[in-house]
Amino acid sequence: MTLVMKFGGTSVGSAAAMRETAVLIQNAQAEWGQVVAVASGMGSKPAKVTDLLLRGAHTAVSGDGETYKQEAERLRAIHYEAIDGLLAPEGERQSILAENEQFIRRFERLCQAVFVLGELTPRAMDAISGMGEQMSVRILAAYLRQTGVPAEAIDATELVVTDDNFQAASPLFDRTAEKVEARLRPLLQQNIVPIVTGFIGAAETGVATTLGRGGSDFSAAILGQALHANEVWIWTDVDGVMSADPRLVTDARSIPSLTFREVSELAYYGARVLHPKTIRPCVENNIPLRIKNTFHPDHPGTVVVPDADGVNGGIKAVTAINCLSLITVEGKGMIGVPGIAARTFGAVAQGNVSVLLISQASSEQSICFSTPDNTAEAVIASLEAEFAQELARRDIDRIWAQRDVSIVTIVGAGMRGTPGIAGRIFSALGQTGVNIIAIAQGSSECSISLVVDGEETGTAVARVHELI
Ligand code: ASP
Ligand code: MG
Repeated sequence: MTLVMKFGGTSVGSAAAMRETAVLIQNAQAEWGQVVAVASGMGSKPAKVTDLLLRGAHTAVSGDGETYKQEAERLRAIHYEAIDGLLAPEGERQSILAENEQFIRRFERLCQAVFVLGELTPRAMDAISGMGEQMSVRILAAYLRQTGVPAEAIDATELVVTDDNFQAASPLFDRTAEKVEARLRPLLQQNIVPIVTGFIGAAETGVATTLGRGGSDFSAAILGQALHANEVWIWTDVDGVMSADPRLVTDARSIPSLTFREVSELAYYGARVLHPKTIRPCVENNIPLRIKNTFHPDHPGTVVVPDADGVNGGIKAVTAINCLSLITVEGKGMIGVPGIAARTFGAVAQGNVSVLLISQASSEQSICFSTPDNTAEAVIASLEAEFAQELARRDIDRIWAQRDVSIVTIVGAGMRGTPGIAGRIFSALGQTGVNIIAIAQGSSECSISLVVDGEETGTAVARVHELI
């Protein structure tokens, strides 16, 4: 049996956290036989290593030749403290310290080059930001070896082959599967636990890439697919996927089981659950995905299972995305005129703005959609340019934005075909005095999204949560 487990930043965030993580790896190996661990960069609060690395690069490019040096010192403090806390001086302490020091020096050299050139390419950003993972896996693997678990740190640049879309690279699955099979399978057969860097990969040419922020979850799913793993587990610092953001809803609870579709809906709608790309390799290969809490390992967490018909359970979770605008294009002359929607979204796309929700009444007199609030002015300007003639002819009366709105999304595959759920949501919100500005429901019926005033987000989420 093969299990791929991913440990997030907090699970490797300190010597103490790494100790717990090592126990989890050891237990999993006893139970499953073949275990691969994927780790993020250290995520000790308040500093997350990936953020420090990126901050160094960003300040350097803006002409600040000092901050990256301070970040290098903080990187030393974080990693050396973990190394000192975990590794015995007579063992690998010195060699792992030296390896980490090499990465930190490399970080300084790269930032210095960025500072001198005044240029920061996406390629350089990937080389810099992926170092957190390269440092953490070396510490964790050495600690496992010290505790008697054979383990080997591996840079995913050796395994995950990607395109060269730096900062959001996509894996080339066939090439990756070959490399994973050749490099990891022999280790697994010898009961060695590969400790693989999350987040990073390499293009065919060998140049380092990253899968995008939060991409370590995706790394685990990629390895799970390549190895035909029986399960993929994401270890994090919460008891699985919560029914709402605990900061908004005090009795938010962990959801025992979600379908792939539900979890993708949640990941999309801003719940900080999983990197959204994690889901596809698992769904397509029927690999159950489990989300568990390193600090509460006996809690079952959430298991994500294949979509099934006839699931019941109604509403499973409520989430919100803040800081949006709702943009409306309206006019009586739009009725029955083909191409208005296409031109509207064409104009929005030209500005590289993503649209989160769309709603059009069948009267066709208006079409509205939401985009991030800080894009509202630019979007309106490009719509006004696109529809200059229609505006002059008064076929379109106005194009306007309602600023600072939120999307509240209610997710649950059991809503499908269950009448009355929307009704309950609307009456509950009505009774609480929350005004619903726009509504959208996809025909998958797996979620309903409502646009509400930004100030009412918390109330709306809490009230809908009471219906679960
Ligand atoms: N370390 C990377 C990030 O902070 C990847 C991850 O943690 O998933 O985005
Ligand atoms: Mg994450």
